[in-house]
Amino acid sequence: MVNIRCAVTNCKITNYNKPPGVVFHSCPSSKEMRNKWLQILKNKCSMLDWSRSKICSKHFEKKYFDSQRKLRENAIPTIFTFSSNSKMSKTDSPIERTKVDRLLSRMNQAQLSSDIKNTFNKIKVPSNLDIFITDDLKCKPDSPIEAHLWLLIKKQDYLNGMLTSQLARNKKQVETLHKNLDEIRTHKKDTEQNIDTLKYIVKCLQEKHATLEEQIEILSAVESR
Ligand SMILES: [Zn+2]
Repeated sequence: MVNIRCAVTNCKITNYNKPPGVVFHSCPSSKEMRNKWLQILKNKCSMLDWSRSKICSKHFEKKYFDSQRKLRENAIPTIFTFSSNSKMSKTDSPIERTKVDRLLSRMNQAQLSSDIKNTFNKIKVPSNLDIFITDDLKCKPDSPIEAHLWLLIKKQDYLNGMLTSQLARNKKQVETLHKNLDEIRTHKKDTEQNIDTLKYIVKCLQEKHATLEEQIEILSAVESR
């Protein structure tokens, strides 16, 4: 068997490990479709060879397949993010994941955060949550699902807090950099003005020098008589 692997950089699918139902697709032959693919794939593939590269079917939405699971002519790869356990399981169908991924990408951090909190507020915190948690901050295997969920939300919340403060620090640094840049610009302007003044002084001195030389010439002429 020839070794075929998906050309998408972060995709590990080869013909040896591909899950059932996943097939490889060649790049389109029409120039118009190739340009569309190129626009999408230029940052997703480290190397793309139109005659040989293959893209696995995990990168195509369901709508791009016909009833025989053949790729339609207008198909373009649009799916590049997979959940962390990228091996497909029976409960984790690609169609479900695609929809969630697509919807998630439209939400911002604040929306997601409040959504998660609202959902979790409906689940009562186990009053004895601490007894379900191990010292390495994991849930004991026999813990109730609420304990698992609450540990997760608490971790998520903590992470959000860290990210928010990191963001605030980054913002401050950017502000400082902008201020420095402004100072450098003002300084540059001052320097340019100083150079202009100095040039003027040099010009004046040169003129004065010329006048003095003339005077010396006249005086020497007078003296030599
Ligand atoms: Zn792939």
